[in-house]
Amino acid sequence: MAPTDLRSLMMTNHRLLSLLMIHGPMMRVDMAKWLGISTPAVTYRTSDLINAGILNEIGEADGQLGPGRRSQLIDLNPEGAYVLGIYRTRAEFELGLVNLKGEVVASRNLNTTLDYKENLDEIIELIAKDCRKLISEVNIPAERLLGVGVGTIGAADSQKGVEYTYRMQDGRITPVPIPTGDTLSRYFGIPIEMATKARALASGERWFGCRRNSFFLVHVHHGVSSAVVLGGYLYKGQGHAGAMGHVKASIDGPLCTCGERGCLESIVSRDALLKKIKPYRRVTDLYEAVELANNGDERIMETLCEAAKVIATACTSIVDVLEPETLVFVGPLFNSPKVLETIKQELDAHTFVGRLHQIEVSPSSFGKDAGMIGAASLVYSTLVQAGQSPDWPPTKLS
Ligand SMILES: [Zn+2]
Repeated sequence: MAPTDLRSLMMTNHRLLSLLMIHGPMMRVDMAKWLGISTPAVTYRTSDLINAGILNEIGEADGQLGPGRRSQLIDLNPEGAYVLGIYRTRAEFELGLVNLKGEVVASRNLNTTLDYKENLDEIIELIAKDCRKLISEVNIPAERLLGVGVGTIGAADSQKGVEYTYRMQDGRITPVPIPTGDTLSRYFGIPIEMATKARALASGERWFGCRRNSFFLVHVHHGVSSAVVLGGYLYKGQGHAGAMGHVKASIDGPLCTCGERGCLESIVSRDALLKKIKPYRRVTDLYEAVELANNGDERIMETLCEAAKVIATACTSIVDVLEPETLVFVGPLFNSPKVLETIKQELDAHTFVGRLHQIEVSPSSFGKDAGMIGAASLVYSTLVQAGQSPDWPPTKLS
């Protein structure tokens, strides 16, 4: 079966596949109930998907259907499909081959000192070379590679095949397109999906992590970015939604790269925090600072918890306006349980809904693989979400 056939089969059965992605293995009879179709119709559809290698029967369910009859549990076949996930950080490119269950089966990091915008062709060639190595390491059939997902630093437009970098011009921010998607297409004859890093991370959480229909994700490291998932969909705004790094956190705070003062990013980014820690402890990166704090360095912990309070304050309006099911925090800062607890306490105390009910706060579901899984999930998301109604599948099955 060609990748295009596999993709169209998955898109035809997107409701069934998304149900299994969010809820895990199910019996045909339960799928029928949730899909609102007959069990024979589910049997027909699952047979097609089992024949195509997308689904597997994984054993008998505990519950009995009737005298002597047991039902098989159906699940996604992890080896049924793969997507290449490319996640760009300031320091490197994380490349991973991610299976249909959202697991990284092979990965490598690509380091380069080349300027991304100036040397795009050369860098994409290096990425393509490393990706080919990943594919041959795992030896997957070409027809099961369904696409390439890319987590970008700036906003991205998959249709136009570009991501954006920004230039300050006469006090205004001017987006400058970089043809990342178009250049990748020359090496891979499969669809390319791109989104900002935070949106990619949120997509990964949506399909393979917290699996909630409404949540807010905040990524803090070199910069600060965020993403909103509402009704199961990533909220895109007019293309630049999620720029939380430039939310005002202090009226007369430090000068930000965007030309404004007191942006969240100028107070809690890696460089801002290392600058605050430097007078009393020399650390090279945020991971080290967080580890020292977790191991008893009280002064560093105090600095990190101050940052946590600033982040929480910046999140209060979003919590009250959107009332998300959970907030997911990604980045080295949140390797500290105390930092997460501080954010939760602040949100519980200083939001309206926090005084109505507990606010759920959680770290990334994936640790170091979060970026690759998130980037790859952008492709899976287009296959299993196309045209479906909001809030499908429901987060909780009764
Ligand atoms: Zn700013």
